[in-house]
Amino acid sequence: MTTKINKQRVNIRENLQLTQKRIESAARTAGRDPHSVRLMAVTKGVEEARIVPALEAGQRLFGENYVQEASGKWPGLKTRYPDIQLHLIGALQTNKAKDAVMLFDAIDTLDRPALAQALAAAMQKTGRRPPLSIEVNLAGEAQKPGCAPAAIPALLQQAENLGLVVRGLMTVPPAGKNPEVYFKELANLARAHGFNHLSMGMSGDFESAIPCGATVIRIGTALFGARH
Ligand SMILES: *Cc1c(COP(=O)(O)O)cnc(C)c1O
Repeated sequence: MTTKINKQRVNIRENLQLTQKRIESAARTAGRDPHSVRLMAVTKGVEEARIVPALEAGQRLFGENYVQEASGKWPGLKTRYPDIQLHLIGALQTNKAKDAVMLFDAIDTLDRPALAQALAAAMQKTGRRPPLSIEVNLAGEAQKPGCAPAAIPALLQQAENLGLVVRGLMTVPPAGKNPEVYFKELANLARAHGFNHLSMGMSGDFESAIPCGATVIRIGTALFGARH
């Protein structure tokens, strides 16, 4: 047995099918319509040549963590596959807001007033208006991005004042804890604020995010293999 993943042996098409089956099965078990859960392929650290097989297999929803990395890979791919939906799922610095607004079709990591301001200015300048989700930091982890649950109402009010479209919530639960508690909490927050976009669940825990109401799950490792 080897612990290193041989990139050549990762069959992305097969992994996509397998993951899709697991999504469908988790949805059915939870009494949900399988089409109500979308698979976002997370391609941080995945080079263009390994993204293409996912595109060829029909995958169109993608997530990237870093503006700079995404800027190198996606403009060319978007020309070849115009119906790609590319989401930013990593922390965004205000000085990259304009680049992010130009490249991404949605930004899922709005988490603070200064960023709302920068995004509004970038949208004004570029004329592009990618929809936003608020990233929520449910466990108050200092090293992690995300808005505290109690700060959501003020951030939403500010977004509304700036004319920003916020349509959902996303979260990454704390490592080493039962994620279900956090998935349920995010679902409750979404309900309280009238959102039906709920991005939660990754390779290791998506099957427990689906019964809690996830509408998007973000999968990297299970599709592309371990990151180096
Ligand atoms: C890397 C990443 C993922 C994918 O994680 P896997 O465990 O590889 O599936 C999902 N969401 C965010 C925010 C990430 O940074």
